[in-house]
Amino acid sequence: MAMDLDDLVFHPWSVQGPRTVPTFVGGSGSYLTDATGRRFLDFSSQLVFANLGHQHPRIVSAIKEQADRLCTLAPGYASDIRGEAARLIVEVAPEGLGHVLFTTGGTEAIEHAVRMARLHNGRPKVLAAYRSYHGSTTTSIHLTGDPRRWASDTGAAGVVHFFGPFLYRSAFGASTPEEECERALAHLEQVILLEGPSTISALVLEPVTGSSGVIVPPAGYLRGVRDVCSRHGIVFIADEVLVGFGRTGEWFGVDHDGVAPDLLVFAKGVNSGYVPLGGVLVGDSIYETFTNRPYPAGMTYSGHPLACAAAVGAIGAMNDEGIVASAARLGNVIIGPGLTKLAENHPCIGDVRGVGGLWTLELVRDRQTKEPLVPVGATGAANAPMAAFAKACLGRGLLPLVLGNRIHVAPPLNVTDSDAATGLAILDEALAEADAFLA
Ligand code: PLP
Repeated sequence: MAMDLDDLVFHPWSVQGPRTVPTFVGGSGSYLTDATGRRFLDFSSQLVFANLGHQHPRIVSAIKEQADRLCTLAPGYASDIRGEAARLIVEVAPEGLGHVLFTTGGTEAIEHAVRMARLHNGRPKVLAAYRSYHGSTTTSIHLTGDPRRWASDTGAAGVVHFFGPFLYRSAFGASTPEEECERALAHLEQVILLEGPSTISALVLEPVTGSSGVIVPPAGYLRGVRDVCSRHGIVFIADEVLVGFGRTGEWFGVDHDGVAPDLLVFAKGVNSGYVPLGGVLVGDSIYETFTNRPYPAGMTYSGHPLACAAAVGAIGAMNDEGIVASAARLGNVIIGPGLTKLAENHPCIGDVRGVGGLWTLELVRDRQTKEPLVPVGATGAANAPMAAFAKACLGRGLLPLVLGNRIHVAPPLNVTDSDAATGLAILDEALAEADAFLA
């Protein structure tokens, strides 16, 4: 199993030291292969980025062709492949987002979006939701509204958090999606008025919350946020790093409500993560700000030609293979009904929620009280039920994504029906391990 070479790697988000884990050496479609030749079903598309699975031939050949022509080029130079990637991205983006700033990932793109907003309207504060993740550098981790922020929180200048809609654990005591939507928007308006609208530069929001809970807002919420931002001159930044490029069964999360943000941040699905790429789609009025003065930021590898080539291959494949429609079907026909059925068999499942190819099972001790099966931030013995579940999955050849008391289910959007059924059957068996911890 473990190769000693793995001990030389300092692993992000992890306790360091020797580990017993498979060493991956290959992949194909929804499967990864380890050094012993064993195959594992990737039921979370890694960190929800390998939307077209592994070794998609169209992306691989786009990268190879670009590598043969020109491996690298600095950001300021005009590049055919960068232009083509921008064209394809703008083509599928919401109206009015006509230019692309490329980055090497999502965190960096969030940093740029916030900087652009502040330079655009000269205001200091930024609003972000509790239960959110926006990245792990200083600004982006402070915007983040979940326990990952706590370890590095030194008090963020200018960041104000608010509650978004989340019916399962409503902060507003609502009992219907309509009530939750109305109350969440009224709360947001209050926060803005009490903070002082003219002091707020931007509002950053995941249109569907990803790793902090897979929370799908009620219909009309995103439209309400758009309206409130427009009324107060606040830049609406949609963080589509995890949900953009088809994950929720629309090209972008904001498409569910038919609204366009002022800035749209993307990464992951733009090229299935084959070469690091992210970016900011820039709305016309913000673009105008930087036509008379320089935009003062950028990185050496922004818009790397190999990453842009991977995006051209990936978006081409998504268009030709109807991946966005496949994602919607995956949710409506396979994963949604499959997980709902699991909830009938497993008392530890408190809530099943999601959309398209992004779902979660929230595990609880008690369905009435909704007490989480493991406490927030649990490690060691306190996390035993989730660890037992994860071990059971791995033993059966499935790679799960377990975050806190939740099991996130997000297979490649082109997963076959039979592979999806295999994954659901393994979850069914492994969930028995978590049930066993109920008193
Ligand atoms: N924003 C969201 C919604 C994310 O899910 C992530 C990563 O998971 C990020 C930002 C940060 O992106 P990256 O890890 O590419 O820096």
